[in-house]
Amino acid sequence: MSNIKEIAIIGAGASGLFVAASLRNNDFILIDSNPKIGAKIAISGGGKCNITNGFVDASHYVGDSDFIAPILDGFGSKALLKWLQERGLHPVVKKEHQYFCPNSAKEIVELLGASLSPQNLRLNTLVGQVSVEKGLFVIATNRGVIKAKKLVVACGGLSYATIGASGIGYAIAQDFGHSVAKTSPALVGFTLQKEQFFFKELSGVSTPVVITVEGRAFGGSLLFAHKGISGPAVLNASLYWQKGTMSIDFLNGFKLSQHRNANKLISTLLPLPKRLTKAFLVQFDLIDKPIKELKRNELEVLEQLSAYTFAPAGNFGYSKAEVTRGGVSTHEIDNKSMRSLLVDNLYFVGEVLDVTGQLGGYNFQWAFSSAYQCAKDLNAN
Ligand SMILES: Cc1cc2nc3c(=O)[nH]c(=O)nc-3n(C[C@H](O)[C@H](O)[C@H](O)COP(=O)(O)OP(=O)(O)OC[C@H]3O[C@@H](n4cnc5c(N)ncnc54)[C@H](O)[C@@H]3O)c2cc1C
Repeated sequence: MSNIKEIAIIGAGASGLFVAASLRNNDFILIDSNPKIGAKIAISGGGKCNITNGFVDASHYVGDSDFIAPILDGFGSKALLKWLQERGLHPVVKKEHQYFCPNSAKEIVELLGASLSPQNLRLNTLVGQVSVEKGLFVIATNRGVIKAKKLVVACGGLSYATIGASGIGYAIAQDFGHSVAKTSPALVGFTLQKEQFFFKELSGVSTPVVITVEGRAFGGSLLFAHKGISGPAVLNASLYWQKGTMSIDFLNGFKLSQHRNANKLISTLLPLPKRLTKAFLVQFDLIDKPIKELKRNELEVLEQLSAYTFAPAGNFGYSKAEVTRGGVSTHEIDNKSMRSLLVDNLYFVGEVLDVTGQLGGYNFQWAFSSAYQCAKDLNAN
């Protein structure tokens, strides 16, 4: 093999590994700054990797649905599960429709890396810049220059810099004339404004809620954390929240008005952890008493818990965000091949693109679906 590779892939995460595992041409190099492949996969889904979801379609993503839908249709969750099963991994449904590795996320990392030889891998290698010279991509790294005829940018977003995120994908895109949609941390907890500082006292408490933001409702747990609120419902809400308020139904559908004449104490009747009820009672300046003894205005105050107005101060930032919203504009990418429409032989896959999924396996599915289209094109040309 010559010093010039046919294909270079920057990023040995979910999307880059899937491209590499699907290539027929072995003359490729997979570059990553981490010492191991699949670092983010290894810590995902509580260590079990939520690989995909039984219900995958473009409605679960923020991005251009006309761009996204055909990619998901081309290689959706059924096709992904079949692909994995044929290679010996049998994901299991653990929560609702979410598929996880049976034992550990390492299983899928090992599967994706199984066909890689040491010649294909350039780990501990930080990419600094990419240019084009005489029709070749020249990839400048901390360990020298790598040249390739085709380049796949699979370097993810800005989340979790401790395991490799660098933003180099956006820089490469911009250097080649691509637009990059404004990025922000997503699937992340919210910080608090002064009015909700009392939430901090509740750190560790968790309760089921429904959060409505930008016309979308997300059910799931809300977890009170040291710095603010987190948990699945909050993470999903963070994908759609830009600024302003959202509404939290702390009563999770329970209708207080239907219990107007109950003898039970507020703290006994409300379907909330006791610590949380007590904290709200203090905030609302109410004492714990039987529901039937509540005055009309007191009942109205309590009913606020069904549509509690919450305005985050901000979020926990990229260091805690599962994904990066925004990224390389999909308007300049061909969705049949993931090729750049501006630069020959340049491809973008995975999270680096302006496509972000909800919680529940949608982001790995996106990484694999987009990688599939890319590999199909590379194999055909
Ligand atoms: C804690 C956590 C849990 C998650 N759990 C889930 C889950 O269960 N299900 C789900 O669907 N999604 C989950 N996600 C999101 C999911 O991990 C990502 O969307 C997905 O990994 C994106 O794949 P990717 O290949 O595009 O990018 P990445 O997996 O981020 O891979 C990019 C690779 O590029 C490398 N790289 C970046 N810059 C450079 C550079 N300058 N030089 C060399 N290499 C570079 C990085 O080291 C990295 O290995 C989770 C994310 C986090 C942070």
